[in-house]
Amino acid sequence: MELSPTADTKAHVIAIYHDKPHYACSDCSAVIALQDELISKSFSGREGRGFLIHSAVNVKHGKKEDRTLLTGVHTVADVFCVGCNGRLGWFYVKASDSSQKYKEGKYLLERAKLVKDNAWKLDE
Ligand SMILES: [Zn+2]
Repeated sequence: MELSPTADTKAHVIAIYHDKPHYACSDCSAVIALQDELISKSFSGREGRGFLIHSAVNVKHGKKEDRTLLTGVHTVADVFCVGCNGRLGWFYVKASDSSQKYKEGKYLLERAKLVKDNAWKLDE
């Protein structure tokens, strides 16, 4: 996607997961990811704890850039919520270290930017 995060054309927020546990944007409540898509909660984001997630919706990608993370140099693109343009985390485009290749094509989303939306109460 070539949408600029600063463009003021608001993309349409889709809401297809309302009947399943999911993570939503903490600012505008747009659905971001199904809870089933969660790979790991033990990642580090820029602002604290981060979630590694298989796929996300209602997000747009910023410019690709090389970033040195705890696990080496990665090519990443920041991801933004289409509902409020808030920065949610980043998308792993490419990992330089072969042990980190499993992250390619996945999302690292900041824990603080997400709220869990359940039909019932879970441990958190
Ligand atoms: Zn949002």
